[in-house]
Amino acid sequence: MKITEFAPIADYERVLRADDPDTGLTAIIALHDTSRGPALGGCRIWPYADEEAALNDVLRLSRGMTYKNALAELPFGGGKSVIIGDSATVKSDTLLRAMGRFVQALDGRYIIAEDVGTCPADMSVMRQETPFVAGLEDGGSGDPSPATAWGAFRGIQASVRERLGRDDLKGLKVALQGIGNVGWHLARHLSDSGAVLWVTDVEDKRLDRARRRLGATPVAINAIYDLDVDLFAPCALGAVINDDTIGRLKAKIVAGSANNQLAEDRHGSLLKEKGILYAPDYAINAGGVINIYYEYCGAYDRDAAYAHVGRIHDTLTTIYGRARGRNLPTHIAADRVAEDRFRVKEAA
Ligand code: NAD
Repeated sequence: MKITEFAPIADYERVLRADDPDTGLTAIIALHDTSRGPALGGCRIWPYADEEAALNDVLRLSRGMTYKNALAELPFGGGKSVIIGDSATVKSDTLLRAMGRFVQALDGRYIIAEDVGTCPADMSVMRQETPFVAGLEDGGSGDPSPATAWGAFRGIQASVRERLGRDDLKGLKVALQGIGNVGWHLARHLSDSGAVLWVTDVEDKRLDRARRRLGATPVAINAIYDLDVDLFAPCALGAVINDDTIGRLKAKIVAGSANNQLAEDRHGSLLKEKGILYAPDYAINAGGVINIYYEYCGAYDRDAAYAHVGRIHDTLTTIYGRARGRNLPTHIAADRVAEDRFRVKEAA
């Protein structure tokens, strides 16, 4: 395997490329910032058009992990890796083991985890070559979705306090988009707290379960944005806050688990102008990565993990305070709070 280092890229610590003709592996690992600790971030397998597209993606994603891990108060920096190729055709045990050797060559500076195109079973294959792997198939913590949902629920509590001035969710009207792994657990927490739910999903059986077990009202896919509710919880897709939907929302709060909810950054500012409080996605959906940290540390302690996940409430409260005090949109305030958390470490 040939490992080469890219010429220095401003703001990034190291960016490396591996080519392994024997297994067909072409991969890039980017370490954005390790001032809080080793860089933790997922491995994406994707059929990028060319090396430049792969490089741009891994740089963007690794930077995002520095911010996410810092906001989540984890002793990790930000990194990410990409394998160039279509996971349906390139993925094999030999390729994954070669990727494991690439990770091992960084000697613990990068900890790999799953992302688009990889799964916990793939992490277990890489583990045969390196210990620097998180989110294993048999890692002890299992599916991260319940932890993500718990963090989203605590984040919703903080958001309701901030925007509506109350601690009680009884009667809170919630429109929930996507009752999959995270959405279902979140819906249960909300329902247990007395919230009233409207739900949508492309899978009828999921809607049916929510109707039967939680008394939720199913609505058509595109109708979810128009409801007269207090809170919109996106738990399915990215880019759902966009030029089309933003004018339709009547909710006072947007808070859910989906990644990349804002189609563009300017939509975060538009939400603020409309008086809608936005819970920055990468702050509120960090429960899964926090859970993985507890698994990576050794014997998994669920209580400790969930207590840490619950602190997403406090992180959002800090973000909202910063946004209010400096008249910032919350997605920008979140970046500033994250920067305080990794740049302070840097200076220490
Ligand atoms: P999932 O696939 O289990 O659930 C998504 C649900 O959305 C499914 O039920 C699907 O049928 C539904 N859906 C798809 N398209 C839809 C549409 N157009 N309208 C309404 N519903 C639609 O995924 P998940 O693990 O529950 O994750 C949900 C979101 O949270 C994703 O954006 C994911 O990236 C993000 N997230 C998940 C975790 C985690 O721990 N699973 C952690 C962080 C972020």
